[in-house]
Amino acid sequence: MVLNLIFLGPPGAGKGTVAQAVADKFSLAQVSTGDLIRAEVASGSELAKELQEIMSSGGLVGDELVAKMLEAKLKALSEEEGFSGIIFDGFPRTIPQANELENILTRLEQKLDAVINIESSEENIVKRLSSRWTCSKCKQIYNTVTNPPKVEGVCDIDGEALFQREDDKPDTIRARLAQYNEKTAPLIEFYKEKELLKSYDGNVPPAESIAAAEKLIESIKEGQ
Ligand code: AMP
Repeated sequence: MVLNLIFLGPPGAGKGTVAQAVADKFSLAQVSTGDLIRAEVASGSELAKELQEIMSSGGLVGDELVAKMLEAKLKALSEEEGFSGIIFDGFPRTIPQANELENILTRLEQKLDAVINIESSEENIVKRLSSRWTCSKCKQIYNTVTNPPKVEGVCDIDGEALFQREDDKPDTIRARLAQYNEKTAPLIEFYKEKELLKSYDGNVPPAESIAAAEKLIESIKEGQ
């Protein structure tokens, strides 16, 4: 049975961490548009500079471009043998993207099963983002307060160096939150109306947040 889920929530709510854990447990592919965009920036393509500027300002990349990158990735994934579903992490971020996701899924003969909304207070968001570090190689996420690596600045998994994202600096964090409130938060009502929304309180330590998400997904699977 295929399971396609969206993880919704403000930046720093724990979407990436929870999505990674849940994707492993339920054998789902995690697709983060932030990762797709960062890969494009790293490739040094023609678009790289423009994308880098948008990210550093805390703004959003254009709907059409993100949707195009996403569709290419989804097409490749859905053609893989043993494909069992996707977790969308960081997409959609606007109502037009949500509408486009419906079109993309229809074209790929897929459907959306549920939207998991991680609720998080602004205080927690700022605290989490400013202490987030990522492995430069495997992209494992650490938090210097709630989930530090065993050795400071070094990934537990592959021993590579950890880095802090440019857009996790205080000014950019504020701009990203403003973008979230204006453009992404309306998706909560959008998916509520479609009866796809499942929310839980993400103002808890990462292990508890993962457990809550897993419980929700078990219940979604039972109802399939
Ligand atoms: P994330 O890793 O999801 O926090 O994304 C990092 C940055 O990439 C965001 O602040 C945006 O600038 C850009 N980005 C990621 N996903 C999207 C999206 N779905 N639409 C527009 N911009 C995005």
